[in-house]
Amino acid sequence: MIKNIVNKINSKTSSLCLIDEPLKKHTTYGIGGPAELMIFPKNKKDLINAIQIINDNKMELTILGSGSNVLISDNGIKGAVISLKNTLKNIEVSGNNLYAECGAMLGRIVKLAVKNNLIGLENLNGVPGTLGGALIMNAGAWGGEISENLVCVELINSKNELKKIPKNEIDFSYRKSSFTKNDILLSADFNLKKAKDDIISENFVKAQTGRKNSQPLNKRSAGSLFKNPKNNSAGKLIDEAGLKGYSIGDAKISEKHANFFINDGKASSNDMLKLIKKAHDTVKEQFSIKLELEVKLMGFNENEIEGLC
Ligand SMILES: Cc1cc2nc3c(=O)[nH]c(=O)nc-3n(C[C@H](O)[C@H](O)[C@H](O)COP(=O)(O)OP(=O)(O)OC[C@H]3O[C@@H](n4cnc5c(N)ncnc54)[C@H](O)[C@@H]3O)c2cc1C
Repeated sequence: MIKNIVNKINSKTSSLCLIDEPLKKHTTYGIGGPAELMIFPKNKKDLINAIQIINDNKMELTILGSGSNVLISDNGIKGAVISLKNTLKNIEVSGNNLYAECGAMLGRIVKLAVKNNLIGLENLNGVPGTLGGALIMNAGAWGGEISENLVCVELINSKNELKKIPKNEIDFSYRKSSFTKNDILLSADFNLKKAKDDIISENFVKAQTGRKNSQPLNKRSAGSLFKNPKNNSAGKLIDEAGLKGYSIGDAKISEKHANFFINDGKASSNDMLKLIKKAHDTVKEQFSIKLELEVKLMGFNENEIEGLC
């Protein structure tokens, strides 16, 4: 069946199709088993055609940006995984407006805004990932969030329709958006303000320095593992629970930042999941606070992740 689908995609698009592609090659964690079928579309038309073929064949579909906010099971992901990290890269600035496609890296978008003296995105300097991932996660840092100056998002919905959704029809909150699992984000428009070059540059540098000082950037991670509870810090709670530096196999809670769970070698998804549960349950026992995951778990079965999601 998979070979049939690959043939169909190859005949209609110039996408690269890989069978049983190890997903650990496509995540910042370096963890993850095979994707039954992994597709790298070359452009928007390829993407739309590939989605149509996958839907027609009733295959499950997962979208991956640059894989910087996911923990994928060593059993991999069933169905098709479409990677957008090599496509939809266009970014344009016109006056105060910035348009970017969802495969563009956030870092490039932020730099272009700063270069054009546009204020509003510079606090996100250093957040890895694509624009698509940032919008789904409502990525944020140092008080700024990607949704702040958003005007609209272009996407493909579950009926395979191309839609432009204005911001007032999307709910954004802390590391959360109301897009559905079937929405595939293609591009977004932002309206920013002109500001003095020195204010923007100062924020831009502060964001990067703050990150370097507080996060284990030389280790493989997916950023903050848990969301911060209201008026509290997940890292502080995990630290106070005595778990800084705690490890299971090669999965380790960073000594530098207790909300960064790192792959310190060849951690399996199982080691990481056990470590996540250990921190989750210990914080719950000691402080009666239920931590909520920020990182998205993919490919695990319900029993494995019971109590976490
Ligand atoms: C060292 C480090 C530091 C980090 N610091 C921060 C930080 O300061 N603030 C912060 O908010 N995050 C941070 N993160 C987390 C991560 O960088 C962000 O969540 C990022 O926005 C994810 O983008 P991505 O392209 O890697 O998404 P992925 O991890 O590939 O995907 C994340 C989710 O988005 C979905 N998705 C991705 N693209 C699309 C699309 N086009 N259409 C539909 N769905 C899509 C995926 O299915 C998945 O559910 C950090 C991560 C690391 C490794």
